[in-house]
Amino acid sequence: MKCPNCGNRTSLNLDMHSGGFSSDESPLKECGVCGLVWRVKTEAGEMKIDIIKPPDKKK
Ligand SMILES: [Zn+2]
Repeated sequence: MKCPNCGNRTSLNLDMHSGGFSSDESPLKECGVCGLVWRVKTEAGEMKIDIIKPPDKKK
């Protein structure tokens, strides 16, 4: 899926194996371009984007 920050499609699934996800939350994704970490969750039947980590700042 597309990165909600930069729109790039090179996102990686972060496989956490924590078992802590509820059924309405998808796995964490990380953008390979800007470093944003997010996941999509479904709330009241609507897709919501949950930002876990903001994009990497330029050094
Ligand atoms: Zn991105």
